[in-house]
Amino acid sequence: MTVWDDLTGQGAAIEVFRAAAESSAVPVGTATDAPDSMTHSWLITGPPGSGRSNLAYAFASALLCREGGCGVCADCRQVAARSHPDLAILATDRVVITIDEVRKLVSSSQFSPSVARYRVVVIEDADRMAERTSNVLLKALEEPPERTVWILCAPSEADLLPTIRSRVRSVRLRVPSTGDVAALLVKRDGVDAETAERAARESQSHIGMAHRLATNDEARARRAETIELALSVASVGDVVRGAAKLLEIAGADAQAITEERDAEERAAALRSLGVEPGQAIPPGLRSQIKALEDDQKRRATRSLRDGIDRILTDLLSLYRDIVLLQLGARVELVNEAISAEVRRVAENNDSSSTLAAMDAISDARRRIAANVAPALALEAMLITLAEAGRSASRKVAR
Ligand SMILES: [Zn+2]
Repeated sequence: MTVWDDLTGQGAAIEVFRAAAESSAVPVGTATDAPDSMTHSWLITGPPGSGRSNLAYAFASALLCREGGCGVCADCRQVAARSHPDLAILATDRVVITIDEVRKLVSSSQFSPSVARYRVVVIEDADRMAERTSNVLLKALEEPPERTVWILCAPSEADLLPTIRSRVRSVRLRVPSTGDVAALLVKRDGVDAETAERAARESQSHIGMAHRLATNDEARARRAETIELALSVASVGDVVRGAAKLLEIAGADAQAITEERDAEERAAALRSLGVEPGQAIPPGLRSQIKALEDDQKRRATRSLRDGIDRILTDLLSLYRDIVLLQLGARVELVNEAISAEVRRVAENNDSSSTLAAMDAISDARRRIAANVAPALALEAMLITLAEAGRSASRKVAR
């Protein structure tokens, strides 16, 4: 087993990084311009859930491990726990990365590595930097210390300033196929093939979400309830109740994810501080754990919005399936598991009302991002979804 094994559907990108890590046995300064050679600054782009940060940490392991990323040695385990002394990370759940965070990272990047060949700096959301902040980073990328490697991650190259783009070697990830994602869930998590395929489809190949749908009954039930609600809403009363219900589902989903992640982070922090599971936290370390807990509390506000966003993504997948059937496209349905119901709505309805429903979902997302009260935005959306449903029942009655 190596650090590359759990990455799915990204063979081409993996080859680039594997070759670079192998050639990096040669000091960076003397590397040639060959495409597989090592360079100081990398950018990994790809849609959310395509595995950008997983690939970044696999590459970090390959650079920090003596065996090129064996997956089992102390270095690899420390990278996996995000606690390797030569690994610096900037990952944020806030909307922007602050200039102070980047300044701190840049000054730490100037040191020589303490135990490994390299010092590796990962910025998980490099698109969340204002221009002024990017310029601080730019200076560091222009004059990199010989043994420092930067790995930036962003949805696309266009999300970064051209000056940054011109300083990095860019590696683009593709959206993994549902087959790739399902195979990963079977191999890595021991999920049965049928559940894995359904989760891969319903998450639209988002690896993290697919894992959740495949392994968490409650997450699966919440998704089913969301779709069912959209298909059954018809009256004004349904709209008001439906919006409240959707908010409740989003809240429950956000809470579940937050609790899971907070517990994992806390466990990782304790591990990196050398505290065994179940052991009391020594007084000297309490302030560090307290700082982590404060950070986690600050993040909670953002997570409800993310929960609503996931619901809207699920709803959009439903109407996408419906409109594709109406247009006669022969594609795999995201909601294959309820295909009979999806087909019934598609047949008894016309594509214009389905497209209106899709617009309404996008409008709701935009309005919530612009700070409209979520309940109001969801009610407005459900009115349009109810209209689509009404025209369906009218046609059925005919
Ligand atoms: Zn290793």
